[in-house]
Amino acid sequence: MLHSNISVNAAGHLTFAGFDTVALAEEFGTPLYLLDENRLRENCRTYASSMREYYGGCSMALFASKALSFKGIYRIAAEEGLGADVVSSGELYTALKAGFPAERIYFHGNNKTDEDIRYGVESGIGCFIVDGYEELEALGRIASGLGKTQDILLRLTPGIDPHTFEAVNTGRLDCQFGVPLVGQGMNFVKTALSTPGVRLRGFHCHIGSQIFDWIPFRDASDIMLDFMAEAKKTLGFETEVLNLGGGFGIRYTEADPVIDIGAQIAKTAEHVKARCAELGLALPAVLMEPGRSIVADAGMTIYTVGSIKTIGEGYTNFVSVDGGMSDNPRYALYQAPYTVALASRANDPADFPCTVAGRCCESGALIQENVCLPRPVRGEKLAVFCTGAYNYSMASNYNRLPRPPIVMLTADGPKVAVRRETFEDLTACDI
Ligand SMILES: *Cc1c(COP(=O)(O)O)cnc(C)c1O
Repeated sequence: MLHSNISVNAAGHLTFAGFDTVALAEEFGTPLYLLDENRLRENCRTYASSMREYYGGCSMALFASKALSFKGIYRIAAEEGLGADVVSSGELYTALKAGFPAERIYFHGNNKTDEDIRYGVESGIGCFIVDGYEELEALGRIASGLGKTQDILLRLTPGIDPHTFEAVNTGRLDCQFGVPLVGQGMNFVKTALSTPGVRLRGFHCHIGSQIFDWIPFRDASDIMLDFMAEAKKTLGFETEVLNLGGGFGIRYTEADPVIDIGAQIAKTAEHVKARCAELGLALPAVLMEPGRSIVADAGMTIYTVGSIKTIGEGYTNFVSVDGGMSDNPRYALYQAPYTVALASRANDPADFPCTVAGRCCESGALIQENVCLPRPVRGEKLAVFCTGAYNYSMASNYNRLPRPPIVMLTADGPKVAVRRETFEDLTACDI
């Protein structure tokens, strides 16, 4: 199967983390998000140990929690020694509610409001990743007003194209995130150094997502290290922290490569250390911000098949399930590839070509086009693999569909980590 936590049991049912997915669907209802706790922790440990081993010092990985945000995930990230990225007051609130240590929280975002900034500073978070001049001014003013000095990194765009999807490519110069390193970067540093209420620790870049090797990270680190050497020479500024962002890819389908993240980090670290030595720079604490590669393959979604439409020779067959863009908008947003399987009869020949649709009233609300499944019947269970990232966190109540629960598959059995929304939840804010 696509990942080692996916298999088929004697009944022909798909299993995930050793659990029968059809039995889980019957117990907890569908749509249903499953999370493999063991895989989650393994993924966290790969990053925690690689950053420690290959960079040492205060280097560490921060979990980019926009990929999946609920209290339980912050508890696991904290236990596994990761920091956390948040991009809104809502994510910050969730992390703090889960008891996540504030000093290990990094606040991202291209348009933090004054309220976001005040909440972060008052909560004593470790660091703001300042995205532009207006934020720098607002943060300095608010922190000074509270009698505090806030640690910051500056977000720079190095102008790297990591050969990935346009929609998730953020390292280019012309995007809404960060300040272009070339031309404007040094002035941004100067301004930060003379802004009261903030203490500049270093720099951040994030080049994109679904990256399968270390080369884009090598190229980004070269640009950042040259910039650091320049900042040292011209401004006497010694960089303490270099944040290389997130973006390692995961295997959504058989077409995606298998990637050894520890080995990629080792190569990047060797390169960064050698370049620092050449440039006469002290090795900074290096940070990375994985989101997808921590949670994606720890997730699976189970649906119940409803209608099966066969229009005739030469036309697409449609299989509709009881969820859709409300719990996974990624196909509708950017045709994201996923592997789907008929969980009820996972060993049967997949000889029925079809498009899997959701139940939302949008013609683009598809889960995946042009797949092959055993011809399903109403009531059978369908699985979508690798939905741990950017599914629950992107879910909505479109069509007034309650959001599914998250069931954590643990050594002690399945445990509800987020309960299913109710109709009362749907009207809770309505006056
Ligand atoms: C989205 C994002 C990440 C995480 O990216 P993944 O591809 O999920 O690893 C990290 N850092 C920043 C700034 C981001 O915007």
